[in-house]
Amino acid sequence: ETPSFRREGGEPLEVLSRVFGFAAFRGLQDAAISQVMTGGDALVLMPTGGGKSLCYQIPALCRPGMGLVVSPLIALMDDQVAALRQLGVNAAALHSELSPEDAPRVKADFAAGRLDLLYVSPERLLSPGMLDRLGRQQISVIAIDEAHCVSQWGHEFRPEYRALAGLPQALPGVPRIALTATADPRTRVDILQALAMPEAEVLAASFHRPNLHIAAKPKASELGQLTDMLGRHKAGGGASIVYCGSRNKTERIARSLRERDWPAIVFHAGISPLEKRAALARFRSGEPVVVVATIAFGMGIDRPDVRIVVHLDMPDSPEGYYQQIGRAGRDGEPAQTLLLYGGEDIARARHWLDVSTAPPAQKKVMGQRLESMIALTDTTGCRTRALLACFGETLGQDCGHCDNCRTPIATFDGTIAAQKALSAIYRTGQRFGAMHIVSVLRGKQTDMVTRHQHDRLPLYGIGKEHPEGFWRSVIRQLVSRGALQTGEGEYATLALNEAVARPILRGEQKLMLREDAVDPVAGSGRAGA
Ligand code: ADP
Ligand code: ZN
Repeated sequence: ETPSFRREGGEPLEVLSRVFGFAAFRGLQDAAISQVMTGGDALVLMPTGGGKSLCYQIPALCRPGMGLVVSPLIALMDDQVAALRQLGVNAAALHSELSPEDAPRVKADFAAGRLDLLYVSPERLLSPGMLDRLGRQQISVIAIDEAHCVSQWGHEFRPEYRALAGLPQALPGVPRIALTATADPRTRVDILQALAMPEAEVLAASFHRPNLHIAAKPKASELGQLTDMLGRHKAGGGASIVYCGSRNKTERIARSLRERDWPAIVFHAGISPLEKRAALARFRSGEPVVVVATIAFGMGIDRPDVRIVVHLDMPDSPEGYYQQIGRAGRDGEPAQTLLLYGGEDIARARHWLDVSTAPPAQKKVMGQRLESMIALTDTTGCRTRALLACFGETLGQDCGHCDNCRTPIATFDGTIAAQKALSAIYRTGQRFGAMHIVSVLRGKQTDMVTRHQHDRLPLYGIGKEHPEGFWRSVIRQLVSRGALQTGEGEYATLALNEAVARPILRGEQKLMLREDAVDPVAGSGRAGA
């Protein structure tokens, strides 16, 4: 006899303790559940690990009928179903990878109306006949998990999610609850609009994760900075995730790490399903692996003891950044995150956005997000505070444990230095990247300098008194403040942005710059500014 809670029903608190074994609701769970219990719609925004699942699982078990959960990720569905079945809940998932052993049972239970909870992919939900079949059943609640996938402006947009707006017509009178860990106000508005639920109660939890210690540093020698970070926290055990901007780079970094005896594995959208499964299995095994990945390694990553998340390239929005670092420390224990950023990254990101063929409205939003992300890298105040501010949340006080809180950032009057750098870029024709400009400033006789006779320029060597790292930092900060932009072409060639650069060159505007601590592993002369 398959268990079913549908015949029993119950009160939320009673079901919480009888089925799940928990004594009390957490945070906004109670409010979200009450809203759905009374037949209203809700939008729940909670950070990963905040306890979103119970917000729909409990109403599904307490209200008459079967709960329907739309979820974009098969692995996630299967995990949830397995966990629920362990608890004696008759849950099932319908998706394209349903195993031949499970399929007949799931179909029979579904047809007979025996299921408590049905997880379904959006494709499956919208497949022919599915809505009709569902329409013949009593549905207790419709949950739309990872609801940000409906937002065209997010990086996880799923076109099929748009069709979910039609659910109230197909299944009238069923309360809907949309859930996401994406916090920004724009996505929130987008979800309510796209899912046609303007009346939904919005329940937004705080996104502050006090156990996440965030830090950001200018890029010097990526690999050195990375292994330094891994080495410093090795004793703590757990897994690490290293995000890279490209597939090639994940392969290259993983190889270098393995050469140095780090247990590195690669994950990106280009590896085979077999490799993917093997990588996930190793990640989930509890071994102290280092996953070197693109952002394809994301949703549904639920290992609790990820101790370190490192970004070797800058994410394109605070939302993406938050989600990625949020994969650390889900067990509540302290976790470390490090973002490495550089002027070339910033310039390249701006350039790609510039040449992108996205619709203008979308480009504008992407541009704003990118600029917020850039501002985050260079902020001299509490980073946690600055990050939460991106989501419209005000932290009452500084976090006390981000890099800027631990080591307050010194600033200096960088006007003269900025003028020198801008002049060097101007006088060399605005056709070169940061590396070459630094050589000119420092009076370094490289091949490129000789070939272009830049050693004959009056300003050749005017920046001798400062080390390379100093100049890279100045250039990067000029890029992030918009005084410099990248030109066309494959390389990140630097050009002046007249409107911002002119007042600096004329000395009409004093420029305070952050004094970047010179990293001990820096100065290897690799990576650019
Ligand atoms: P999310 O979907 O928001 O990432 P989950 O629903 O997976 O989070 O919940 C995260 C963890 O918190 C799970 O292990 C879950 O069992 C636990 N949890 C959720 N709600 C409660 C509660 N009220 N009391 C105790 N533990 C809870
Ligand atoms: Zn702080």
